[in-house]
Amino acid sequence: MRSISIFGATGSIGESTFDLIRRAGGAEAFRTVALTGARNVRRLAEMARELRAEVAVVAHEEELPALREALAGSGVEAAAGAAAIAEAADRPADWVMSAIVGAAGLVPGMRALRHGATLALANKESLVTAGELLLTTARDHGATILPVDSEHSAVFQALTGEDAGAVERVIITASGGPFRDWPLERLAKATVAEAKAHPNWSMGSRISIDSASMFNKALELIETREYFGFAPDVIEVLVHPQSIVHALVGFRDGGIMAHLGPADMRHAIGFALHWPERGHVPVERLDLAKLGMLQFEAPDDVRFPALRLAREVMAQRGLTGAAFNAAKEIALDHFMEGRIGFLDMAAVVEDTLAVLSSGNSLGKAVSDLEEVLAVDHLARVRAAEQAVKRAKGR
Ligand code: NAD
Ligand code: MG
Repeated sequence: MRSISIFGATGSIGESTFDLIRRAGGAEAFRTVALTGARNVRRLAEMARELRAEVAVVAHEEELPALREALAGSGVEAAAGAAAIAEAADRPADWVMSAIVGAAGLVPGMRALRHGATLALANKESLVTAGELLLTTARDHGATILPVDSEHSAVFQALTGEDAGAVERVIITASGGPFRDWPLERLAKATVAEAKAHPNWSMGSRISIDSASMFNKALELIETREYFGFAPDVIEVLVHPQSIVHALVGFRDGGIMAHLGPADMRHAIGFALHWPERGHVPVERLDLAKLGMLQFEAPDDVRFPALRLAREVMAQRGLTGAAFNAAKEIALDHFMEGRIGFLDMAAVVEDTLAVLSSGNSLGKAVSDLEEVLAVDHLARVRAAEQAVKRAKGR
């Protein structure tokens, strides 16, 4: 029986994963090792009971008594705290879903790889923060990383059976988010509620706002570079408002393989769950005749400077990705709490990178995880300072 764990089980990707596991037979077909969440104890306990998990872990220690109570009599162990989440990743499982949001997903993912797991990686932040380290760890421990971002799953599928050396271009699409055609003046006043309202995808609130600012696409450019190893100038972004074509791979003979599917993450999750086979996944089937038309347009990195910043990270690599992601997480916190404006987020990230680059060599090769975590921490401190400056200037 295949064993599984889901990190970030109570989130949007976690719930979709749970749905697919349940449809594929649930506790009768899989042995569930660990399920984790941040705060939603009731839901976490419900999932753990249904899948008869070995352990359920909440990120916040003060929730432990509530979790224990919710699991009473179930035989599922309860634990809490970041260290307990990392320890849960030390319990070997064949297939591990990494769906925590933010750099908090990095350590559990690394630990699962050290145990040789197949890591279904939705947590793009860990590739942005420590791409090379993650890939090396996988290689050293005979582990596998499968991308669970719609664009990256699409590129992975388009590359299957192909010679990577014959690839001329890799194009990831972007819906453009809710502000695709907003002018700069309007973007400056965009609210959190407006930024959360993604036109096509139903996702966690942080990634939804990152989609509105194009920081999500910025992370995905870096993710493409880190995961597949293509040179930065091979990788392009194309705005495609319908979110039907997820990525395209162009070859040296001029042919292009495109991957199409509905805007439902269960396709990418299901692909990773059943890989290397193709399993039945209950997503809506595309009706192209009904859709009638697909639109494409060039991205605008003046209104969406995150894309320009991503290019700098892709060129420098090393520790730059860790600094970029951490600064972005802090800028997003400050925007969500109403302290800075929508456009201030990119300014905070850019200023943080500038401050950290003077005197430090962020572009140097990464030696270990501790070094990455130190830069992540420092970037958070510096980004908070930049955000306070921006807040005062408003
Ligand atoms: P979400 O906010 O809905 O869920 C996040 C999960 O992580 C929840 O279980 C939450 O409880 C947990 N969590 C949050 N902070 C934590 C912390 N500090 N420590 C431990 N656990 C914590 O987010 P989501 O939309 O499901 O996204 C999850 C990941 O997948 C992100 O990295 C995101 O970029 C990526 N992703 C999501 C989608 C999507 O459609 N939702 C698509 C592609 C990639
Ligand atoms: Mg994506």
